[in-house]
Amino acid sequence: MSVSTSQIKSFIQAASEIINANAEEVTELDQTIGDGDHVTNLQRGLSTLDGIADSLGALDWSAAFQKMGMSVMSTVGGASGSLYGTLFIAMSKAMKGKDMSLESMADAFSQGVDAMKQRGKSDVGEKTMLDVLVPVANALKESAAQALPLPEVLAKLNQVAEIGCESTRDMLPTKGRASFLGERAKGCIDAGARTGQLMIAAIAGVLGSS
Ligand code: ADP
Ligand code: MG
Repeated sequence: MSVSTSQIKSFIQAASEIINANAEEVTELDQTIGDGDHVTNLQRGLSTLDGIADSLGALDWSAAFQKMGMSVMSTVGGASGSLYGTLFIAMSKAMKGKDMSLESMADAFSQGVDAMKQRGKSDVGEKTMLDVLVPVANALKESAAQALPLPEVLAKLNQVAEIGCESTRDMLPTKGRASFLGERAKGCIDAGARTGQLMIAAIAGVLGSS
């Protein structure tokens, strides 16, 4: 798998398209158990990233992730801005001096998700985006260890992301705004888990067609 930073723009555009296409559904989820701004937060971040995407193509992966993380942190409010900013900054550290490959991406993504856990003081089972991102990170590492062919890897990532998203439905939220609702938040999937799953699908779609 050889992916260059000049392709970042196509990842960002695919992520924006899928978020825009599902904006109504996600906003309804976040209105039910959050404060309803999750889509707007993500759209602000994605449009900031789209604005810098052309300049990222001149950078290596480590520098590109660093710049993405700083931009997201400084423009996106809310839990998701600081969590995704943290993801990119930790991925930047992990990618120092490395080319993008299935192994390096799996390693960097795992370290990024670990940093998100620390930042959010949370883990799987708390009805958040981590219920999607942690299983995806694990599946990515397993796939890299087994050297699976790319189409199989992407299918597996999509599958675990969908299962992870759906798993949040019956969870009791213990982190973020949804935690204020307690038992009343059961029966609704988490907005951040849904957008995490959608963006994984978008990225997998680009990787599968390039
Ligand atoms: P805010 O909750 O500050 O309004 P957003 O609406 O953009 O921010 O994002 C909400 C999403 O962030 C939730 O749906 C959940 O997935 C995720 N989230 C919130 N708090 C945490 C946390 N402590 N750890 C991990 N994810 C979290
Ligand atoms: Mg919100």
